[in-house]
Amino acid sequence: MPIYEFACKKCGHNFEVLYRASDGTSMPFCPACKSKKTEKLMSIFGGKFGNASAGGGKSCSATSCPPS
Ligand SMILES: [Zn+2]
Repeated sequence: MPIYEFACKKCGHNFEVLYRASDGTSMPFCPACKSKKTEKLMSIFGGKFGNASAGGGKSCSATSCPPS
């Protein structure tokens, strides 16, 4: 089961959630302030245990990527 990291846009609290595909349409609320203005970040599995040389999944480094 994938674990995703979320960031609260209201208070800035970061938290991790076991996120099921069937719940994909509903964002979890912030455990700190109960706001639903949350933003999904990179999966901790892909981010911390993936290919470290991939630099976040892109072929270019953070410094060479043009700003999106
Ligand atoms: Zn919050």
